[in-house]
Amino acid sequence: MSAGQRGAVSVPAAGNIVLASGNPGKLAELSALLAPLGWRLRTQAEFDLAEADEPHPTFVENALAKARHASFHTGLPALADDSGLCVDALGGLPGVRSARYATPAAASRAQQDAANNALLLQHMQGMTQRSARFVCVIVALRHAADPEPLIAQGELCGHIGTIAQGDGGFGYDPLFVLPGGGTLAQCTAADKNRISHRGQALRALLPLLQTRWGSRERV
Ligand code: IMP
Repeated sequence: MSAGQRGAVSVPAAGNIVLASGNPGKLAELSALLAPLGWRLRTQAEFDLAEADEPHPTFVENALAKARHASFHTGLPALADDSGLCVDALGGLPGVRSARYATPAAASRAQQDAANNALLLQHMQGMTQRSARFVCVIVALRHAADPEPLIAQGELCGHIGTIAQGDGGFGYDPLFVLPGGGTLAQCTAADKNRISHRGQALRALLPLLQTRWGSRERV
């Protein structure tokens, strides 16, 4: 029996789900949102699983590919998100390339974030139209061959500032100015969870998880 088939046997109403990401910022945000419902996120690193490729042009395709990869290799239900920053004046870039916008890849996540932010500021130099969105698509699969993925999307609108401000969060947070003023990096973690694209996507996913996966198991 393959790992993918093992995952098809049953999905507990609450229990372990493997998160198809090695990003500690995402793990902390998603764990905080899922823990009250009894779901325990295991990272794919716990299974010595390398991160899947993200070759697709859309967030939803990449999230599906990541969830399928994690579920296939662990035999567990899997949760994957694909997220990024879409800047209107740049035609939606960095988009699915947000994580590696600045190339070549830097040695650490912090260095990569700094290089990405510097490149974004450079590309937006002199621009007055600076509207942008963080977008997150979350996919949940019961098993690797699940024909009915649960899919939820969240968005957070704002604009790109001209200087980095704040020490919190990760990625483009110091440049992302909220409609009420201040950057996402100046928010507390709790405030960010309340408004973030990931928080919104997960809150949209939770009722689907409870009704679709939960009810089927109870029948
Ligand atoms: P992913 O891991 O493929 O989803 O890549 C997402 C990339 O988009 C991250 O590496 C960040 O650069 C950026 N990103 C996604 N969510 C956030 C966020 O909440 N704050 C700042 N940057 C983010």
